[in-house]
Amino acid sequence: MHFDLTEDQVAIAEAIREVCARFPGSYWQRLEATGDYPEEFVRTLTELGWLSVLIPEEYGGGGLGITEAGIILEEIHRSGGNANACHAQMYTMGTLLRHGSPEQKAAYLPDIAAGRVRLQAFGITETDAGSDTTKISTTAVRKGDRYVVNGQKTFISRVAYSDLMLLLVRTSPLPSSGPATRGLSVLLVDLRSAGDAVQVSRIPVMFNHHTYQVFLTDLEVPVENRIGEEGEGLRYIIDGWNAERILIASEAVGDGRFFVERASAYAASRTVFGKPVAANQAVQFPIAEAYAAVEAASLMRFKAAALFDRGARCGVEANLAKYLASTAAWRAANAAMTAYGGNAFAREYDVERKFRETKLLEIAPVSNNLVLSYLGQRALGMPKSY
Ligand SMILES: Cc1cc2nc3c(=O)[nH]c(=O)nc-3n(C[C@H](O)[C@H](O)[C@H](O)COP(=O)(O)OP(=O)(O)OC[C@H]3O[C@@H](n4cnc5c(N)ncnc54)[C@H](O)[C@@H]3O)c2cc1C
Repeated sequence: MHFDLTEDQVAIAEAIREVCARFPGSYWQRLEATGDYPEEFVRTLTELGWLSVLIPEEYGGGGLGITEAGIILEEIHRSGGNANACHAQMYTMGTLLRHGSPEQKAAYLPDIAAGRVRLQAFGITETDAGSDTTKISTTAVRKGDRYVVNGQKTFISRVAYSDLMLLLVRTSPLPSSGPATRGLSVLLVDLRSAGDAVQVSRIPVMFNHHTYQVFLTDLEVPVENRIGEEGEGLRYIIDGWNAERILIASEAVGDGRFFVERASAYAASRTVFGKPVAANQAVQFPIAEAYAAVEAASLMRFKAAALFDRGARCGVEANLAKYLASTAAWRAANAAMTAYGGNAFAREYDVERKFRETKLLEIAPVSNNLVLSYLGQRALGMPKSY
């Protein structure tokens, strides 16, 4: 068992740190004030090839694994930045890589790898179907060589900044008996040619995130844009969930380290009652506890990533990593808020922004309750809790 990063992985982390240094807290504060998308940040990462590391080299990508992708996302978050504007290219890549046809891969991957095309949106959630994905009601009806899609999605992040969207639809009704997972299909929607058939409306949320309601009206999608078999789509999405959980865990580890590093430095430098606030156990211990939790979560994240990268089963480890890392980050966020006192609320310190941002990792793209139910059922053999 190896506990150290390889030289190449260390070099990746250092390179990302250098890039992120060009986008300091003031950059993210400015964007939050205007509500703008971090276009320059995303363009820079794209041009340097960091968003296409999971694409095989034969298509022009980096040909690296989830371990490296996680290191990239971790460092972005550790620097005080946020990968929400662009991480979906890594989150969703497995669906296209593992289940896309050779023609689909040849058609899209080189352009995505070169940064000419963005695959940054995935449309699953609906107003009446969040955790319970099988209840989606967006339909795709086949008419000759096209599907005609109608429905509505919600919380679809980055859709206004993406060229492509992976869309989960019902191609046959929810079965009255048998597995509810049947009858769902994944379509690769080219948003550039969708015209008025796709309308979006931004949902204001508690931090500067670009997430939208999406209205789909008679959207025509060529049958050749269906990923895999008709009716088997949920299987392809679920197949990508382990990668997604490991990547979220990596972001959470990055957030956790941001809070722990900033809080310990601040608390050591701030003098109150004639001594550094860090000298008080009530301030120091929560930071140290959060540090312990973040470091433990990081190990589980690397274990899950190593299993994933060698093609081994990793569902339990990926879910453990997601749970441990997101709760550790939230713990670290609270410790940092306490350590900073009033300054925790001042925008210029970035702590309150990161506090708001890191809460999301406990809830989306999958809530920790659903993660616990997975662990209870799959790892511990207890009855299904939903
Ligand atoms: C900022 C943001 C960005 C997002 N981006 C995307 C995106 O790009 N694409 C996309 O498709 N979706 C996206 N989502 C949606 C996200 O995936 C869902 O919000 C998430 O899956 C939870 O679903 P829900 O909100 O419908 O909660 P619900 O399913 O309504 O659940 C509400 C609460 O009840 C709990 N709960 C439900 N059932 C059980 C149970 N059986 N046992 C215990 N607890 C239970 C849940 O854990 C949750 O805490 C985004 C959400 C947010 C907030």
